[in-house]
Amino acid sequence: MPEGPEIRKAADAVEKALKDREVLDISFAFETLEGYEDILTGATVTGVDTKGKAMLTRFDNGYTIYSHNQLYGKWMIRNAYNYPKTNRQLRLAIHNEKKSALLYSASDIEVLRDEEVPDHPFIRKVGPDILSETVTKEQLRERYTSRRFFRRRWTTLLLDQSFVAGIGNYLRSEILFLAGIHPSLRPTDSTPQQIEKAAEATITLMEQSYRYKGITVDPDIAERLKAEGKTRNQYRHWVFRRSFQPCHICRTKIEKIEAGNRRLYYCPTCQAL
Ligand SMILES: [Zn+2]
Repeated sequence: MPEGPEIRKAADAVEKALKDREVLDISFAFETLEGYEDILTGATVTGVDTKGKAMLTRFDNGYTIYSHNQLYGKWMIRNAYNYPKTNRQLRLAIHNEKKSALLYSASDIEVLRDEEVPDHPFIRKVGPDILSETVTKEQLRERYTSRRFFRRRWTTLLLDQSFVAGIGNYLRSEILFLAGIHPSLRPTDSTPQQIEKAAEATITLMEQSYRYKGITVDPDIAERLKAEGKTRNQYRHWVFRRSFQPCHICRTKIEKIEAGNRRLYYCPTCQAL
């Protein structure tokens, strides 16, 4: 499942194709949305924002398309009307003179008035989005130690989109590793240094993953392992998907466990109890 950094990348591509251009034609696969086709045709796209795993395509006439890709949604950007060969269901197509932005397989698409966006059920409860908003380490540290969150397990919190938007399964393992936090702990069990590191790692890992196409390990380590002939899966992360392989810091074998029905990877030495 794509996480915040992958969604922001997809939003960048959609924005590049559509921004500041007039919509010549738009079509929705859902009958309930067909009425918006006339409203949005002729409008100009002003930008594409993200809120965690949701995307907000903004128009200059006061409307916004909300879309959430869930597990299967996928955007494809093509030259205008040049549809790809795919078995996926086309759900939304936005065309301008040069490009077509095509959203396949997503089922969660809505058209909202701009003023309705903050009250949308997902947008209202979702936490800060590090890749679309200015979020400081101090703000995160406060959030991680707030009464609302600090008695819940890190493993549950980090996947809860109302905690921080856009963290998914690989970022969860990677943040806990860099913060040196054992997966059984809660913020209230963690030292101030661990909380500080978790706040810092949340920001740096999301930004790095966005900038380096999903690579979360230190870029120098990634380069070295790549030069040694390792595959992308072997050099991409600190711990995620690396069970039985040696930790990049201490050489202990990485372990895999289940946490909240999702797999989690950690180093028993760097993240000792
Ligand atoms: Zn280690």
